[in-house]
Amino acid sequence: MKRITTLTCLMLSFFAMAQQQTIDQKVNALLKQMTLEEKIGQLNQYTGNNAATGPITINPNKQAEIKDGLVGSMLNVVGTKYTRQYQELAMQSRLKIPLLYGQDVIHGFKTTFPIPLGEAASWDLAAIELSARVAATEAAASGIHWTFAPMVDIGRDPRWGRVMEGAGEDSYLGSRIAYARVKGFQGDKLGNLNSVMACVKHFAAYGAAIGGRDYNSVDMSERMLWETYLPPFKAALDAGAATFMNSFNDINGIPATGNAHLQRDILKGKWNFQGFVVSDWGSIGEMVAHGYSKDLKEAALAAITAGSDMDMESNAYRYNLPALIKENKVSIDLVDDAVKRILRKKFELGLFDDPYKYSNPDREKQELNNPEHRKAAREVAAKSIVLLKNDNAILPLAKSTKTIAFIGPMVKEYKANMGFWAVELPEVDYNKWVVSQWDGLQNKVGKNTKLLYAKGCEVEGDNKDGFAEAIATAKQADVVILSIGERHDMSGEAKSRSNINIPGVQEELVKAIQATGKPVVVLVNAGRPLVFNWTADNVPAILYTWWLGSEAGNAIADVLFGDYNPSGKLPMTFPREVGQIPIYYNHYSTGRPAQDDNAKGYVSAYTDLKSSPKFPFGFGLSYTKFDYSDLKLSTTKMKSNEKIQVSFQLKNTGKVAGEEVVQLYLKDKFGSVVRPVLELRDFQKVKLNAGETKTIQFTIDNEKLSFYNDKIEWGSEPGDFELMIGSSSADIRVKSDFELVK
Ligand code: BGC
Repeated sequence: MKRITTLTCLMLSFFAMAQQQTIDQKVNALLKQMTLEEKIGQLNQYTGNNAATGPITINPNKQAEIKDGLVGSMLNVVGTKYTRQYQELAMQSRLKIPLLYGQDVIHGFKTTFPIPLGEAASWDLAAIELSARVAATEAAASGIHWTFAPMVDIGRDPRWGRVMEGAGEDSYLGSRIAYARVKGFQGDKLGNLNSVMACVKHFAAYGAAIGGRDYNSVDMSERMLWETYLPPFKAALDAGAATFMNSFNDINGIPATGNAHLQRDILKGKWNFQGFVVSDWGSIGEMVAHGYSKDLKEAALAAITAGSDMDMESNAYRYNLPALIKENKVSIDLVDDAVKRILRKKFELGLFDDPYKYSNPDREKQELNNPEHRKAAREVAAKSIVLLKNDNAILPLAKSTKTIAFIGPMVKEYKANMGFWAVELPEVDYNKWVVSQWDGLQNKVGKNTKLLYAKGCEVEGDNKDGFAEAIATAKQADVVILSIGERHDMSGEAKSRSNINIPGVQEELVKAIQATGKPVVVLVNAGRPLVFNWTADNVPAILYTWWLGSEAGNAIADVLFGDYNPSGKLPMTFPREVGQIPIYYNHYSTGRPAQDDNAKGYVSAYTDLKSSPKFPFGFGLSYTKFDYSDLKLSTTKMKSNEKIQVSFQLKNTGKVAGEEVVQLYLKDKFGSVVRPVLELRDFQKVKLNAGETKTIQFTIDNEKLSFYNDKIEWGSEPGDFELMIGSSSADIRVKSDFELVK
């Protein structure tokens, strides 16, 4: 049996090698036929006009270039009709090299899933992978080959609008999610009809923009880079990510797009990445504005030298590489290497066998209306909601509730629920396709429940004219649900905010409604952690609902009425005030540890604020309670080649079934460098029926104890560790010391 397995494995790897060889041979053969212009064309990516309101067009000059074989890839052309139409132009070119269609398929395609930060709050890797898989299936059926996702940038600053697009502040959680997303997008191998190539972005450290201002400079130590910002990229690569995108920012003075250390030394060198790197939109050209390159020609030189293979919308390669090669400033080998990387992917996708493979209108029609996708979107959305507060068990609401007032500027929104970075297809009426929060509630309640509505106010502005009607409406109800937050377009690219409060007079509306004495449940819709102290301190029940996508209304109703017991946990720390930023749970131990309730004296804290956050990383409540007990370690002394088996009992002590995200944190008590106060090193999402107890097991191995030492080398150091398992980073339920011995 064993022999057969080994033989089969050998044969399989032989076939895999043979296939790879044939692709490489095909690439080389094609390369030999290509003129320099055609080669450079493959490095050239243009945008189409993806207008949400009308037909997609490509500028006639660009169309002519496609026919001449001078364009390798397009973005913002979606739909089989258009992808086919423009591929036909590429098929008229001399060598008939197919176009590659890329698109920002960030959280769904026609079926929109929660914004990625919201999805990260599910801590549910299977759900996250499924969401990417559905997005890939729909996008691929619509002619797309390649998504510019996942964004794996660590976000420790909620002022930065793009935290909505990532997986939060933690490198470990971020790495697990990056892996799941790449697997979801790409599946087992490229070329399957329900998969697209992933593009891991933005390489690197884009999320560390100074002051949280998008596109700003990044000043970062090599330690911080390796410890916190690079791991999710590596995880995505380990999952097989086909492409990477570099970033707009400079890092320690060198723009990432022209950064050879990042792209050549780390990505293509140490990590041996075989795919290709695309620049960010116009980021080669931006090196001129950075004052790093004198002109576009120098920018092209810096970018190709540093390892940026494809030029997105800078027109830098197309017009400057020929001269740079002639002047011997760029070797043809550099260009050939970039071209080969891109062609290889086109072969792997099967585009040379059939350039229209993905542009099949029947499949498009079927997949874009697949009810299974909506079902998945509803489930993932419900899993992404975080219950922040539930005093007196106000939630879940009784299905027999007679009158419910649903108040707030978000209640009757449709498209807004899709959040930033949602794909907008020209032919879709999103007022029909998205379930508004109002519609979701209506779908849920029976005939005997009366629903009342008042808008109350707008998201922004200081107009309180609607308050009186909202108060009067609230007074007629048994319970009030208030839907507030930031507008869906207030977080995302170029949407940094200096103030992360709930905008406008919305919190005043909360005060006014709370003053009616009615039980109030607040829904906070947002693309980032917000500051809402009055609401958090005074309102009995709060659900953080992010932007949940096509099924937002249904998912919210599922949670409000207990058809889904909330299980989300915050993937980012919520500050008390914006002045606490950056604030994250895994900060280093200081010589003056801050004390939570006492900012006086010589501690590392502010004098006017508690040092703890408002809501900690990993926090989220449930309609039930979980008890942790009986922690056992197979040994409290391990050698680096050994493992510790950890187990404990998790009991659902409440009356309803629920899921708990059990979080395993470690603290390395002493090191050759200062270590964080605690670090997430594992987690499990566990479902338990009411009253049920399960034995939960984890394994501690040397990898979990390793870190980048004083020489920035990965490894463990013998010494004392603390193991902590709990319900959030600030709610450790069981713990034990152990030792790593030589
Ligand atoms: C963003 C990228 C995105 C690209 C293409 C850029 O502005 O930074 O994340 O993929 O545009 O739309």
